[in-house]
Amino acid sequence: MIVMKFGGTSVEDATAIRRLISIVRTQLHRRPIVTVSAMGKTTNGLLECARLAAAGEIETANRKLESLAAHHFNAADQLALPIEKESLRDTLVKRFDEIRATLREINAARQVTPRLSDAVSANGELLSSLIVAAAFRGAGIPGVWVDVRPLLRTNNDFTRAAVQFDEANPRLKAGFIEALDGTNVPVTQGFIGSTADGATTTIGRGGSDHSAAIIGAAIDADEIQIWTDVDGILTTDPRIVAEAAKVKTISFAEASELAYFGARVLHPSTLLPAMAREIPVCVRNSRRPRVEGTAIVRNAPPSRALVKAIAFKRGITIINVASDRMLMAHGFLARLFAVFDRHETPVDMVATSEVSVSMTLDDTRNLDKVIADLQSFGEVAVERDQALICLVGEKLKYTPGLASRIFSSIEDVNVSMISHGASAINVSFIVASSDVERAVKLLHREFFSELDAETFEITAAAQAAA
Ligand code: ASP
Ligand code: MG
Repeated sequence: MIVMKFGGTSVEDATAIRRLISIVRTQLHRRPIVTVSAMGKTTNGLLECARLAAAGEIETANRKLESLAAHHFNAADQLALPIEKESLRDTLVKRFDEIRATLREINAARQVTPRLSDAVSANGELLSSLIVAAAFRGAGIPGVWVDVRPLLRTNNDFTRAAVQFDEANPRLKAGFIEALDGTNVPVTQGFIGSTADGATTTIGRGGSDHSAAIIGAAIDADEIQIWTDVDGILTTDPRIVAEAAKVKTISFAEASELAYFGARVLHPSTLLPAMAREIPVCVRNSRRPRVEGTAIVRNAPPSRALVKAIAFKRGITIINVASDRMLMAHGFLARLFAVFDRHETPVDMVATSEVSVSMTLDDTRNLDKVIADLQSFGEVAVERDQALICLVGEKLKYTPGLASRIFSSIEDVNVSMISHGASAINVSFIVASSDVERAVKLLHREFFSELDAETFEITAAAQAAA
């Protein structure tokens, strides 16, 4: 069994869905479970409808919803079997009626609670999966729609629900094995799940990849395929470096560092369930299915390349706490970090000296509260508009002198915090946001001017995306 996950652009319209079917058709013998995202831009569109409804602009919300509906009906009409068209249309109409009812509720309450937000946004995947399942049947393949919600049990932390693996795993396994009966191709949703009492949840924006890994791990899949609109994991963002090349094989550890530090191909926690079970993941381009993509495996073959890829993340805030009470004190850091915990704010990078601690944050929703509480520890300084740059490669572990090569290649860029990650396979540092593009270009030139053909491949798509 394999899991084939198709992202928003890979199901964006009838043409994309036909492409998806021709890709799945070549792998029917591997018993695929197809997991889909919402049709491109639908999730944003639905959330915009919810926002408008909360602002009292229900007519605008409904008009927006009408145009989303038209797009879905249009694809459904082109793809479903003639005898199924009417019943598919009815099913979709019912979904849109439900969304309209939820929008009315939001409008009356004048606010989008997280629960109502999920009740709206989960529909993107429900709609797209219904259409894709029907499209399979339209193409002569027995597609069966599987509602993942009763299987993928989560807690009730709406909009970013955590999966309850003990409950979810056996359900997913039983549910999909039943659905796979004979030659069936189950088609299900990424991104969504439900609580014990049946409320619809979502697991965080971009969460469909994570869903694919969860399903793959639960059924012990032979492989998880992430079909997207880029050729695989690239050496860096091609919008900044046109010569960015595709990385052919990368280890779980390297890929998760990259995802965490901003590479847009994978959701940060995506790989964890797959990694735990050592299931290989590959990232492929649904527009260019003949391209091999990037294989993410437990142990990547030894490579001559020092650096596999450069990721970066803008919008980083640095908080510095200076206090001489830190000197010789124990328990200081524990109390300090308890502040972040209390305000549910993850810290990405930390640097300490005897009398100060610097921390970087990506999520600044509770920044004011964090700062207020930190005041009792010492002097607090905040720097915004920073960017984190991260170089990843297993070889970084064994290469003395590399740091000097990294920093001399960007010697005129001001670097404020450096961390040679605990995992030792990444070197990360902070620069001002305004310097990030220049620094990434210089670093890419330094490390990827000569490409090891066994590790990298120049791809036309990387160029086109630039
Ligand atoms: N449709 C969801 C989103 O846009 C999940 C996903 O595409 O992965 O966030
Ligand atoms: Mg996506």
